[in-house]
Amino acid sequence: MMINSVYSNKDIFLRELISNASDALDKRRIETLQNSELAENTKPEIKIDINSDAKTLSVSDNGIGMTRDELINYLGTIAKSGTKEFLKAAKDDSTKQELIGQFGVGFYSVFMVADKVEVVTRKLGTAETYKFTSGGDGSYTIEDAPQRDECGTTVTLFIRENKEDGAKNYLEEWTIREIISKYSDFISWPVIFKDNTINSQKAIWQRPDSEVSEDDYKEFYKHLTHDWQDPLMHIKINAEGSTNFKGLLFVPSQAPFDLFMNRESGGVSLYINRVFIMNDCKYLIPEYMRFIRGVIDSEDLPLNISREILQEDAFIRVIRRSTQRKIFNEFKKLLEKDREKYIKFWLAFGKIFKEGIVQDHDHAKNILDLALFRTTNSDEWTTISEYEARMKPDQQGIFCLTGRDSLAALKASPKLEQFINKGYEVLLMTDPVDEVILSDLRFILPDDAKKLLNISDDEVSAQTDDEKKDAEKKLKALEKDFEPLKKIAKEIFADKLEDVRPSVSLTNSPVCLSGGMSFQMENIMRSVGQFVPPQKRILELNAEHPVIKKLVEMAKNNDKDEKVTDILKILYDQSLILEGAAPDDPADFAKRVNEVVALALGE
Ligand code: ADP
Repeated sequence: MMINSVYSNKDIFLRELISNASDALDKRRIETLQNSELAENTKPEIKIDINSDAKTLSVSDNGIGMTRDELINYLGTIAKSGTKEFLKAAKDDSTKQELIGQFGVGFYSVFMVADKVEVVTRKLGTAETYKFTSGGDGSYTIEDAPQRDECGTTVTLFIRENKEDGAKNYLEEWTIREIISKYSDFISWPVIFKDNTINSQKAIWQRPDSEVSEDDYKEFYKHLTHDWQDPLMHIKINAEGSTNFKGLLFVPSQAPFDLFMNRESGGVSLYINRVFIMNDCKYLIPEYMRFIRGVIDSEDLPLNISREILQEDAFIRVIRRSTQRKIFNEFKKLLEKDREKYIKFWLAFGKIFKEGIVQDHDHAKNILDLALFRTTNSDEWTTISEYEARMKPDQQGIFCLTGRDSLAALKASPKLEQFINKGYEVLLMTDPVDEVILSDLRFILPDDAKKLLNISDDEVSAQTDDEKKDAEKKLKALEKDFEPLKKIAKEIFADKLEDVRPSVSLTNSPVCLSGGMSFQMENIMRSVGQFVPPQKRILELNAEHPVIKKLVEMAKNNDKDEKVTDILKILYDQSLILEGAAPDDPADFAKRVNEVVALALGE
């Protein structure tokens, strides 16, 4: 009962045994390297057998093996004190997970599937063979056994019959084959089952670069991800120091279709000493790097680490930090060296990567420096620093425009006019996350002198102080003339608009909406279930535009009120469309436009 409750997935008993066998082979290799007279002339391998008549499953290795004392110390102690302590501690759920790490329950996990276990072993360089037997109840026996030909260990499990619904049969060939291939693919020793080597043994990340071709990396990537396309790039990590780990990470060349839906999963698998521990270990990589695929292989973590511990583990945190740093560096290099490839990366994953600016304030600046933006200057992508190099000396900040998800729609925004006319460059930000970045930026980068300025904000202007004063004067002079038109407009849009006022900063467009939250932001907030109060905006009328001039005239002369109303409504709807929103009543809008068209055609 107790043993079963520790691990959620019983299959891992086999992983533990294969990993012990693999360790034993590693130890034999090192031992014989140091003491060549000990060398035994056998090919190192791990063999797995099932015997359905005897109902046994065995894992054999010709590794280092164990002496009698070692059997007692390594396996006996676990079977005895480990079991007792564990039985006591397991009653207390909160300490249970901790204890998995403390006691070597790796071997002990066999009792999840077996009633009895026999271990027959001969230590390298000795003649005696021993048989250890335990029933997982805290007792064990050790006896002399007939000499094994090869050094090493055979662990035989007497598989318990499990009649539960959906229980796996660990005596079934395909079940075992599947588990072996899942857990041991990159074990560096051959794992043999039914005369076949099941694992590919390519711990490709452990091999020096000179031994691995570009094609090998591609093949491994495809094997790992089931992607049919080549990866865009790979990143190798070889960290030595406070924690030792190796990593082989990939940036796919295209985003999988579910990347945006599936926020939780990360694509990096955790290996510990070449033993597969888990897929999608999200603790290894921040959420905004979830598009990265690959393997991290740690030397410092215990094999039987639980998910709960992983989340808190200090080694994992160090791995995560240095992996993150490495990824930033690699992206920086790519940006500098291969712009074309970098743009491909950015098109596929930039949106996700940028989420980090909001999620990870410590690295917000790094991410911002790596971000590419569209601009009013050209059709090329630009970085913030490239933009800064082109900034005019008098410029108060980096001008940005958000609010629409299409570049063409953004370029059509009347808000750009005054900036473009004065020769300023404006970054065109089409991703919803840009909107959040801009609204959060002062909290994220408080010390950054050159701020990103959203030109939709009323305070952000292309005008100098003198020009502003000038404009105010002009507007003051217009006030009286505008009064009648303003009155009509305010009546029509009483429940929709905060104000209607003349503007002298627009050039081509007759009207423009300002104030309030952008429509895109409104949509984002509503889509995440936040309440957004109705936004009352300001309708700005371009005082210099012929249509507006005419309307002012008509309103002043108090004639054709109805026509003024119709045109104002069309203009208002137009301003909504230019903001990327829809007219309140599309049918009504179409009707009015058609009337104007008919008029123009002289009908
Ligand atoms: P862990 O592997 O985490 O130390 P285990 O309970 O799996 O814990 O194993 C305890 C110890 O028993 C191992 O550290 C190792 O020294 C020894 N051992 C287990 N299996 C083998 C094996 N196949 N060959 C040699 N030694 C083994």
